[in-house]
Amino acid sequence: MSDLTLSGVTKSFDGTEVISPTDLGIEDGEFVVFVGPSGCGKSTMLRMIAGLEGVSGGTITLGGRDVTQLPPVERDVAMVFQSYALYPHMTVGENIAFGLRISGMSKSERRAKARAAADTLQLTDYLARKPKALSGGQRQRVAIGRAIVKEPGLFLFDEPLSNLDAELRVQMRLEIAALHQRLGATMIYVTHDQVEAMTLADKIVVLRKGVIEQVGTPIDLYTNPANAFVAGFIGSPK
Ligand code: ADP
Ligand code: MG
Repeated sequence: MSDLTLSGVTKSFDGTEVISPTDLGIEDGEFVVFVGPSGCGKSTMLRMIAGLEGVSGGTITLGGRDVTQLPPVERDVAMVFQSYALYPHMTVGENIAFGLRISGMSKSERRAKARAAADTLQLTDYLARKPKALSGGQRQRVAIGRAIVKEPGLFLFDEPLSNLDAELRVQMRLEIAALHQRLGATMIYVTHDQVEAMTLADKIVVLRKGVIEQVGTPIDLYTNPANAFVAGFIGSPK
């Protein structure tokens, strides 16, 4: 159960408001993409949803539960970052199992979960290898594995593919879409890439300067943009 609601959520840094009062509802199982120019508040939104950053005002509920004041570990969310620092001295299996370090699970349980996550990501043959023996795409898969292993109801991806080359980005995009199908989890995905946004999203949220300009399906936004900003952002390839 991962229906997410933001009600009047705001964020200020040093007295400067970077997220204006925001209302947003995301349904269980939806794939929602946040787009908008650099600095518009995409990462801040994700970090507040994850609990890595407190809100300045408003409330966040997840699965009907008010999580506004809860720390990340109590939120049923997992986040995948653009820079996916893996531990070089740990194997792939250990890196993935690291996502469970604070779960209180036994080592053998963590190992079994890591193996299952690796299977999902076609990393089974790489479990015993060190990150330096992997390609960029495989490393990003390990980072995703670290999130999957927690079996969260809500995945948060912050530009996870922007460090990969174009060909690999396409492949990983298809893999993330397949993962969404398979897990049925809710996913929020931040990207600069309009093709990623248009192809992955059930729903796109367009942000500008901490304000949601429009929320809609890719087709809605393309055929019926609310304003010139949305039209420019969705219409013009970067
Ligand atoms: P995006 O991810 O869309 O590029 P961010 O959420 O990173 O945007 O940033 C939104 C705004 O908040 C920017 O103006 C940024 O400078 C500011 N900001 C983000 N994090 C901090 C912070 N920790 N301290 C001060 N300002 C911040
Ligand atoms: Mg960002």
